Amino acid sequence: MKFNEYLKNSLNQIKEKNLYRERFILDKNIINFCSNDYLGLKDNEYTKQKLKEFIKDLPVGSGASALVSGYYEIQKKLEQNLSNLKDTESSIVVGTGYMANIGLISAITTEEDIIFSDEYNHASIIDGIRLSKAKKFIYKHKDIEDLENKIKENKTKGNIFIITDGVFSMEGDIAPLKELYQIAKIYDAVLIIDDAHATGVIGNGKGSLFEFNIKPDENIIQVGTLSKAIGSFGAFISGSKLLIDFLVNKARPVIFSTALSPVQNFISLINLGIMQKEEFRRKELFEKSKYFASRLKEIGFNIEFHNTPIFSIILKDEKKALIWRDYLLKNNIFIQAIRPPTVPIGSSRLRITISYSHKYEDIDKLLDILSFMKENL
Ligand SMILES: *Cc1c(COP(=O)(O)O)cnc(C)c1O
Repeated sequence: MKFNEYLKNSLNQIKEKNLYRERFILDKNIINFCSNDYLGLKDNEYTKQKLKEFIKDLPVGSGASALVSGYYEIQKKLEQNLSNLKDTESSIVVGTGYMANIGLISAITTEEDIIFSDEYNHASIIDGIRLSKAKKFIYKHKDIEDLENKIKENKTKGNIFIITDGVFSMEGDIAPLKELYQIAKIYDAVLIIDDAHATGVIGNGKGSLFEFNIKPDENIIQVGTLSKAIGSFGAFISGSKLLIDFLVNKARPVIFSTALSPVQNFISLINLGIMQKEEFRRKELFEKSKYFASRLKEIGFNIEFHNTPIFSIILKDEKKALIWRDYLLKNNIFIQAIRPPTVPIGSSRLRITISYSHKYEDIDKLLDILSFMKENL
């Protein structure tokens, strides 16, 4: 059959290019160095205990979109706490970060508008821009001069949006928010920050704006996830009350998708509380990341430390990235090989993340194997 031929041929091409992807189920004894569970909250005992205590009062499904009958007290409370965290008037919880970005960007932009987007922004931002009717310009990674030139060259009667990851998911570097904020002020642009990897990690857990002491205002929109450092599932958008009212009326993933389960929102609420209270998790995460960075450099890896727990060892070649992944897995360490289209062609890599839950001996074990592979593979 033609369709199945197409599927088979496409997959064969992917395999030939060493871009074939598989899902792994990790045994308990495997040390995971590629999760986004930075604070070790995804499997914590306190939240499980609380869940046991309260499960009888929690519906396991929400039953409908939040606009129909899927909105519960627990989600409202979660949204209030997120507004508190992000220092905004209002917040809305949505299914995933992917949905937050596509829903937000497609809802707030019109064909009159222009979007300026960092070239390393997350795929969900790229897809959100694809869904939008606005014109788009991609500026060079963190390059303020390139951004400003592109803004000057492209005038519009409509609105201007600048979109950036707060912490870039693959490189682990932090957006130059002071400068982006200034540019946004000068050109009267709305600044959208995707803090998926910044929330819970930098700015005392409050995210990238707070790392730079920038006070949120009505021209800043913060997107965050509940699935990374917060260790649960879901996402949110924080901004002015006007913005959130608008999204309730216009964001299609809010209107046409079932609300998260109250059980999930309960988990998010408890984990969010731990994230804010237990400062030592962030402190230790940073110390472990710093230790890993300095030892990596000692054994001859040319990496940059951005004061975040994300590291990329760029191997360039897809095949090599797979060989390194498989060798690590044989030694009970899992680090997925990240290849195009997630990263640019020729920059395949191991993306390593440090977590609060790693022991120093786990990190040492990883370093030993990396050192061996560097000389021998
Ligand atoms: C993970 C991620 C998302 C998507 O969030 P999900 O909740 O996993 O869908 C969006 N933006 C960035 C920068 C991310 O890293």
